[in-house]
Amino acid sequence: METIYTFVPSRNHEYPDHPERPGRLGIVEPLLDSFGAERVDAVRASVDEVARVHERGLIAGVEEVCKQGPGVIDHAPTYVTQTSYEDAMLAAGGVITCTRAVMRGEAKNAFAIIRPPGHHAEPDRAMGFCIFNNIAIAAQDALASRMERVMVIDYDAHHGNGTQAAFLHDERAGFISTHQWGIYPGTGWIEDAPHAKKRIANVPLHAYAGDETFSRISDAIFTPMVKAFRPQMLLISVGFDAHWNDPITSLGLSTRGYFNIAKKLAAMAEEYCDGKIVFVLEGGYDPQNVAHGVDSVFGALTNRPLKFEANDPSPHKDPDHEARIAEICKWQGLSSS
Ligand SMILES: [Zn+2]
Repeated sequence: METIYTFVPSRNHEYPDHPERPGRLGIVEPLLDSFGAERVDAVRASVDEVARVHERGLIAGVEEVCKQGPGVIDHAPTYVTQTSYEDAMLAAGGVITCTRAVMRGEAKNAFAIIRPPGHHAEPDRAMGFCIFNNIAIAAQDALASRMERVMVIDYDAHHGNGTQAAFLHDERAGFISTHQWGIYPGTGWIEDAPHAKKRIANVPLHAYAGDETFSRISDAIFTPMVKAFRPQMLLISVGFDAHWNDPITSLGLSTRGYFNIAKKLAAMAEEYCDGKIVFVLEGGYDPQNVAHGVDSVFGALTNRPLKFEANDPSPHKDPDHEARIAEICKWQGLSSS
């Protein structure tokens, strides 16, 4: 097998007028056969696997609250329905299924196309449309098996606060997050984790940060961080809400920009991680962007051109981030180039 994917659409996890809705993946589903990757069934996560990241009281609490029927469990708002506990367990399991296959060499690389998303969920609470932290759970599964170091790179538009919290005191787990500064959840400043330089890096961005800025950050921050931390596998939190026309954020990536970052990350995995890379879906609230974005990830993983030639350059000027990049490199102790 070369590239594999899991697909967990959670069709009954929905709430009236909520942006994190089944339609985000409904548009992708009919296209899945055309991406040149092989579908693998997601295996539901066990409570013990989820408990490597989350407190058992939270896991039991989510199961209980879902039994009571639809409701809101935090102010983001994060909602649950009667199926949400099982949906979240299957979403986390879908990422584990991918990471295990890549770790064992049964697949070259993988993409977990799942919802509900995970990167805001902290060890002791569900938040930000996220119930369990899918990517952190899969990272811990890999670390409990044969991996000594893994790194998550998160380029969703929002800070991956839950992943950062899960990895904060784990020397085996690296984390880099790019995110629009000043929006939800409000964390992710450069100096968030002073004890974890060259392991945890935050890259807060000005509004409208676009293709050029992300390309530059990949070269100036992602690559030296990967070289310094030496992960054996890259796990990527990809959110398509950094696209310029996402309805709830204000960054500036185009589909072409998404493709370029995914290609750079795949090349980075090839050079430093024996090719081992797993992409995991987080946010992205315009379904067309999600479809184009999924194409960009599969294009990078299978090494082919974009299937949809989306011509959607950002109408905004990409602000200069050189001073910000220099500040981050200095703080981390990376030689800026
Ligand atoms: Zn997001």
